[in-house]
Amino acid sequence: MRLLPVMFYLISYSNVLTYANEPIQTFVIPHSHMDVGWVYTIQESMHAYAANVYTSVTEELSKDKNRRFIAVEQEFFRLWWDDVASVSQKKQVRPWHNSWKCQYTVLQLVKEGRLEFVLGGQVMPDEAVTDIDDLLLQMTEGHGFIFQTFGVRPRFSWGVDPFGASAATPVLFALSGFHAHLVSRVDYDLKDAMQKTKKLQFVWRGSASLQEQQQIFTHTMDQFSYCTPSYLPFSNRSGFYWNGVAMFPDPPKDGVYPNMSLPVTKQTLHAYASTMADNIKQRAGWFRTNHVLWPWGCDKQFYNSSVQFANMDPLMDYINQNSKDFGVTVQYATLSEYFQAVHNSQLVWDVRDSEDFLPYSTDSHQAWTGFYASRNILKGVARRASAQLHAAETLFTLYRINYPDGPVAKDWALAKLRALRWAVSEVQHHDGITGTESPKVADMYLQHLTRAMMGGKELLAAIFLLPHNIDIFSSHKKADAHQALERHLIVYNPLAWNISTVVNVTANFPCASVFDESRQPVPTQIQRSAASNVTYDLFILAELGGLQHRKYLMKFSEKPCPWRPKCGGAFEARAVPFERRSVRDWRKVGRRLLPVLSDCYKLMIDQDTNLLHSITHLQDKRRVRVTQDFWEYRANGDVKAGPISDNYIFSANASAVRAYEAVRMEIIPGEIVTEIRQYFYRKESDEDYVFSIVTRVPECFGSKVRCHGLEQTYSLGPLAVNAEVVLRTGSSLKSGRTLYTDDNGYQMMKRTRKEFANNTIARNYFPMVRTAYIEDGLSRLVLVGDRAHGVSSQVGGQLEVMLHRRLWNNLPWNLGYNLTLNDSSVVRPTLRMMLASKGVASKIYQREAVELQHRPVVVSIDLPQMHWTEKAHEGSRRASAVVLPPNLHLLTLSIPGWNYSVHSGENAQPEPDYDRVLLRIMHLFEEGEDPELSKPVTINLKDVLWGMGEVSAIEERSLTGTWDVGSLQRWTWKTADGKAGKKKSRRRFGDDPFSVTISAKEIRTFFVSFDSRNL
Ligand SMILES: [Zn+2]
Repeated sequence: MRLLPVMFYLISYSNVLTYANEPIQTFVIPHSHMDVGWVYTIQESMHAYAANVYTSVTEELSKDKNRRFIAVEQEFFRLWWDDVASVSQKKQVRPWHNSWKCQYTVLQLVKEGRLEFVLGGQVMPDEAVTDIDDLLLQMTEGHGFIFQTFGVRPRFSWGVDPFGASAATPVLFALSGFHAHLVSRVDYDLKDAMQKTKKLQFVWRGSASLQEQQQIFTHTMDQFSYCTPSYLPFSNRSGFYWNGVAMFPDPPKDGVYPNMSLPVTKQTLHAYASTMADNIKQRAGWFRTNHVLWPWGCDKQFYNSSVQFANMDPLMDYINQNSKDFGVTVQYATLSEYFQAVHNSQLVWDVRDSEDFLPYSTDSHQAWTGFYASRNILKGVARRASAQLHAAETLFTLYRINYPDGPVAKDWALAKLRALRWAVSEVQHHDGITGTESPKVADMYLQHLTRAMMGGKELLAAIFLLPHNIDIFSSHKKADAHQALERHLIVYNPLAWNISTVVNVTANFPCASVFDESRQPVPTQIQRSAASNVTYDLFILAELGGLQHRKYLMKFSEKPCPWRPKCGGAFEARAVPFERRSVRDWRKVGRRLLPVLSDCYKLMIDQDTNLLHSITHLQDKRRVRVTQDFWEYRANGDVKAGPISDNYIFSANASAVRAYEAVRMEIIPGEIVTEIRQYFYRKESDEDYVFSIVTRVPECFGSKVRCHGLEQTYSLGPLAVNAEVVLRTGSSLKSGRTLYTDDNGYQMMKRTRKEFANNTIARNYFPMVRTAYIEDGLSRLVLVGDRAHGVSSQVGGQLEVMLHRRLWNNLPWNLGYNLTLNDSSVVRPTLRMMLASKGVASKIYQREAVELQHRPVVVSIDLPQMHWTEKAHEGSRRASAVVLPPNLHLLTLSIPGWNYSVHSGENAQPEPDYDRVLLRIMHLFEEGEDPELSKPVTINLKDVLWGMGEVSAIEERSLTGTWDVGSLQRWTWKTADGKAGKKKSRRRFGDDPFSVTISAKEIRTFFVSFDSRNL
């Protein structure tokens, strides 16, 4: 989080309209905004204040029934619950006052609604650069814990700090059973207009396909946002923050914190009350009902909550005693109490369609579009960890079903999975994956992720090796030099589709041959790596069934085998070098074009520039001019000289400039892929390049490998200080002012370029979580990525992706918190580019994005003594492929381990549930996006999952698993068009209980039970 850049002063109450006779009902919601990361690490935060929040709040709530608190970030709550809370804190929260008979447990406080969990995820996630897989994960983890421990389910969201609001998140909250949604950071001028017209509250239909089925009432916080207004006309200290400011690294021993507000005393009481009442009345003028949500708190508050409540209690009593004079009443409240009052008003609300609130600006020079590209490495590792988790979850589920008594210990496996779930959840924090944290916090996330991924690898290796032949381990000896020439490879497809793909393995030898399980040679290609002089890239053509793995034997040698067709040697591809070309010598282009052909395309490379010249899409025989190169924005680092760029903000003071003076190229023609390597030199005379593009053109003629995706891996860095580098893909497409980008990998948003008086470049940047495209009447040019970036289309036909930023500025606030983003790393993101007719592109781009996200898992095993043929598993059958129709995606297949019925309320965790399988299936297409693929699809889950085992029962659940959908009731809200958010009748309970019909953009969640023979 960061502080609001504008100080909001309390205006005196004079001409604000309010209800003439009724006092305004004010819901004072005590809360503490606890960033899971940002400037301080999680451990530092726990020590300095976070643990004290829950310790002191639970004590204070038990003293007075009127007090309330909302708990938001589950990671901190669980760290407190598991590691800090004493038995007495859990069981009785007032041990020091024995005369009181009433002793409250945390469970009681929760059950009575005085301690309320809102949002309920591990973190308050960012909404711009997070992927749907991870949003679901972090909510499922949080909700599972809350339900198991306290028997309650969060019903309201609290997105008070994410930097802009996505249209996908309200849909996910609706699917999770929420009654209402809350956002805060929307464009400054828009919020202003919404306040003036009392349109801060509306019913949001976030999905264009799901429409009113998943609509949700949404409250936008007013200009004071989530912090208590702190200006006091009668004091030069801030007000309402009686516990002061948290101290790092250690809390003060005497309990006296800096900047504690003036205490509420006889002398200050009336002045405090007037200030508060004036603020309430000012805010009441922006809302349609007579209720005001008055958040009481801010960042890192309530660590010493006795001081907070001891001052607020008498203040509120005084206001209520004089409510006629003040025109307001005040009460402690949770979020549900506020929303209940608004709901009871029975008003008719405006409808907002699937438009989102991205990007976000705090004033005309402050566009928060820089963070879309800040800390590229962290964004990439987070996404890789998420993909590894998905693979490990699906594999462990398959393993549990097929080898319930197998040697991979279930508690060991679940611990590995939970560590990875926790690390992937944590980094979704709005100062995590956004790259807006201090360097030490970025290191903390990376460390947690890499450590958990090592555990994930151990789990994958154990699952692949242990059940198959336990003897391997007992007979395994240390490999000698000779044995290193043979390796086994296991390739697993974590998607529920059959795929044909090219797997890339790094090798240490120039020659190789690869064989499949039946000892047949497999088509392969080997060549020197682009990234290193001593390693080689081995490409293997692999065909894999849904959720299936295959094994290969790789043999390496210094010399090629004598006759390739017989010995199965890899095609040895060699580089053809091209002379370095200087930009200054570009006189004529397009004269000497070199074609590279695939099943889909004819790429033309210009030998005079060493750049891409055009792509002909062979199916339509349409040639499109396409160029690609690197440009950079030169940022200002001096606040006195104009707007700056930092972790959060992108300020383009001028247009981008070409970031190189010369380009060198190599082409490596191949049988499986042809590689085009382009190296960009900053200065003509430089020896080392600073940017590169390695494009892999699939050449697998006659195979099933789809030829549309041109996979490009870039290398950038270290950058010069105050450079923001973009990959520009220019084309002859007449795309005009329109760009399409995705919200959270769930849905595409149409972005029409807008002109602003200032800052037009930066305010036309959008997050690209997975996908961006432009199109004209005939063709579409699509990019899908392996991590989030910022993307823009500054002129027609152009896609500009911001890949890397390195910044420094002298703003004291940035320097004080070390948030200038002096990121000197070398980054290597991957994008796939596709060019196709609109009809073809709309059929394939989503699948391409999913396949890039969930590439096959490759495990290389150095076990030469391993018996080649796997022993039959007595008593269990081999799993066969699990294949969904092309428009349905297996979003989740996991064993969450949560117990969805026990509510212990104590530290003793119930036994994990190893038999409950959580399955989520998502329809990838929007209504009307494709004539065939957008249609509803009916599948029989028993048949579809047959490859995993015999399904005995299915139960449809809410998105995070805590509700049986049959018993889930959400509040309905009246809308101007009269369409109610009724549940669509589920057609699965027809004749066949296992038959499910899934419509456009639906995500359906199930608990699946497998037959006891399998479990
Ligand atoms: Zn925050």
